[in-house]
Amino acid sequence: MVRTKWKVIILNAARIVKPGEPLEIQEIEPQRPKGSQVLIKVQSVGVCHSDIHLWEGGYEGIGGQFLKTTDRGVKYPVTPGHEVAGYVESLGEEASSALGGVITKNEKVLVYPWIGEGLCPACRVGDENLCDKPRSLGLYTDGGYSEYLLVPSYKYLIKIDDNRNDLDADSIATLSCSALTAYGAVKNANLGPNDNVVIVGAGGVGVMAIQLAKAVTGARIIAMDLDDNKLKLAKENGADFFVNSKKQNAVDAVMELTNKMGADAVIDFVNASKSVETDMQILRRRARVVLVGLFGGELRLSLVSMPTRAYRLIGSYTGNLNQLTELVSLAKRGIIKPVISNRFKLNQATEALQMLRDGKIVGRGVINP
Ligand SMILES: [Zn+2]
Ligand SMILES: [Zn+2]
Repeated sequence: MVRTKWKVIILNAARIVKPGEPLEIQEIEPQRPKGSQVLIKVQSVGVCHSDIHLWEGGYEGIGGQFLKTTDRGVKYPVTPGHEVAGYVESLGEEASSALGGVITKNEKVLVYPWIGEGLCPACRVGDENLCDKPRSLGLYTDGGYSEYLLVPSYKYLIKIDDNRNDLDADSIATLSCSALTAYGAVKNANLGPNDNVVIVGAGGVGVMAIQLAKAVTGARIIAMDLDDNKLKLAKENGADFFVNSKKQNAVDAVMELTNKMGADAVIDFVNASKSVETDMQILRRRARVVLVGLFGGELRLSLVSMPTRAYRLIGSYTGNLNQLTELVSLAKRGIIKPVISNRFKLNQATEALQMLRDGKIVGRGVINP
């Protein structure tokens, strides 16, 4: 609990102490917000696939080589959780005066977690998510698997305006990674109404990409997955055609659906060796292949096909603050609807990660600390 006069503050956080081991609930005394910092009372935090990599300590690279998170600057123990929605608990002096009452205590907010160091070329143009020296919350610094979260600046908060929409904290939270990753990927695919796009992987992020592609591009959407339940969800969320790549020959099926031309774009939310091998066989000339998932592995590529067929391989990582404000607008108007399927308590964090890893969460899981 937090006492208002800031005398004793102890919060509970579910932390990764050692990769691979169950998360520990630790009591922590957070810093009092100074300057532009803001302390948020966490209502909801999304459980994301990248939390699994943080928990496992890395992911698979070329030749089965294990890419360690510690080699990328992650330090343990760390509190995961980068999809955070909650209420303003207290503000640093600069934050309260800078905002002049625009954001005040108890305001409902969404946190932008992809924070950069502020000075590199990406940060300079507002793409802090692509910073050279990232300081992302819940990855490089403590995140929202916690009762409270200290955010470095008020500028990373987006007001949710409780009175004008019926968005709950769980749905809002998932906008900052799951939906933002989907939005960034759809933008990178550069889709138009003449395009056929294949969306590979109809989990939480894939389903959001289907909603967004439907809402903002006009493209024909082909959903691909191994699981009929997920394809059903894809259908409910606006996909036009469906390929079960376990039961069908995925290449033949896409060729059939695209009049033998192939797809104009593929957005791969799995991004494993096997899925991308398939992606490369279903491309129309000029196709964009947007790789998003963090499953990992390696790819054999026909190099001559790259120039002759003018393919583009694009890596897509989350999205910027401006894109997140756009998403909040789309969500407020009901144009996109996050699908929340599982809710957990803080002491169920390990279970939540296990279920996600085992593919048992259809849609999105959240923790309510
Ligand atoms: Zn930067
Ligand atoms: Zn995430």
